[in-house]
Amino acid sequence: MKRIAVVGGGVIGYSTAIRLAERGHRVTLISGQEPLETTSATAAAYWAPYWIGQYDHRWASDTLKVLQQLAHEPGTGVKLTPAEEWLDAAGAKELDEELDEAYWWRHLPGIDWSRGPVREPRSMTLPGTSTPIEFVERVQFETPVARMPDYLAYLRRRFLELPGSEVRAGWVESLAGLLDSEGFDLVINCTGWQAKHAVAEEREGPESMRLLAGYVLRMPQIPGQPLITMHRGPFHDTPLYMVPRSGSEEDMICGGTAILTEPAPPARDLLRGDEAIFEQILARCVAFEPRLAGQQPLQKLVGLRPVRKAVRLEPDPREPRIIHHYGHGGSGLTLSWGSADAVVRIVDETAPGGL
Ligand SMILES: Cc1cc2nc3c(=O)[nH]c(=O)nc-3n(C[C@H](O)[C@H](O)[C@H](O)COP(=O)(O)OP(=O)(O)OC[C@H]3O[C@@H](n4cnc5c(N)ncnc54)[C@H](O)[C@@H]3O)c2cc1C
Repeated sequence: MKRIAVVGGGVIGYSTAIRLAERGHRVTLISGQEPLETTSATAAAYWAPYWIGQYDHRWASDTLKVLQQLAHEPGTGVKLTPAEEWLDAAGAKELDEELDEAYWWRHLPGIDWSRGPVREPRSMTLPGTSTPIEFVERVQFETPVARMPDYLAYLRRRFLELPGSEVRAGWVESLAGLLDSEGFDLVINCTGWQAKHAVAEEREGPESMRLLAGYVLRMPQIPGQPLITMHRGPFHDTPLYMVPRSGSEEDMICGGTAILTEPAPPARDLLRGDEAIFEQILARCVAFEPRLAGQQPLQKLVGLRPVRKAVRLEPDPREPRIIHHYGHGGSGLTLSWGSADAVVRIVDETAPGGL
């Protein structure tokens, strides 16, 4: 069994650390930030592939199974939630063309996917525009939602209950340094968007990682509100979503944005958003759901989605004792358990003492 350092304390770092420790390895998780300071803590966060490069579909379907089980366990912050995507004529046409790609997962067990008419003839006018959007149909499914502050706390507890596990606070200056000066056998790089700083090839160039800022508001929950997600047709560039969550508190995440952020902020910066963008999000959500009018945000959050052409899950070509595991875009929760299992398979193939 190996002594492994997992660098990163977001959803990817913790899922990976748990799977490796369950396999019997001695795992130290090192994180520069507390769980609530990570991008993972800002995620909405529901299971559905979104803003993601290439990935193995099995990672998503395996994660779905795990989250569906966790929804039945107390204290995880995970709940199965009815979800709806509302479409205007342009969005419906776009979906027709992309159905097998966008909703490849619609036949997975428990998802209960269907497409049908809107409940009532409904329209909305986006702030700053004059033409109302006429919704013509809606897609419905059921998906796990993780209330991330609770879910990250659950992952941390679960990890620390495993033999040989340890959490260390601090910034790692050099991934390779953990091998040489601290004697770890392997380092798993789960640094998310901060891989821009930790890995030279992510810094610039057409193939480098892009950071898409997601702004969200934490709002009081509206009773009976299903999860709403819209990112086609008039919502293509600026999505609109409302995600009710349960756990230590009942609340709702309202979003959102996908703003290309260049250059990357310093790794240790606490991200603070632009106030005008938060106001726009609220105005758009109120236009869809007037019951939100007059409600004050409980919190304003911004996170950076690490988007690559493909999720990076491979040993470093120059130092194979470093295994990269980052670039999960807008789908970190969605892929977390499945891609953590894939890391375990790479580690299993590693001969004692190195690759
Ligand atoms: C607004 C928004 C909504 C989203 N909604 C969803 C959703 O509904 N469903 C979904 O699946 N995904 C969603 N995502 C995407 C998801 O949040 C990310 O894919 C995921 O959080 C990435 O997790 P991570 O663990 O890789 O990175 P992070 O959460 O960013 O964690 C990185 C960790 O690495 C640590 N670190 C970095 N560098 C170092 C270093 N040098 N030394 C020590 N520690 C270091 C950091 O401190 C941190 O602990 C959303 C994202 C945003 C922004």
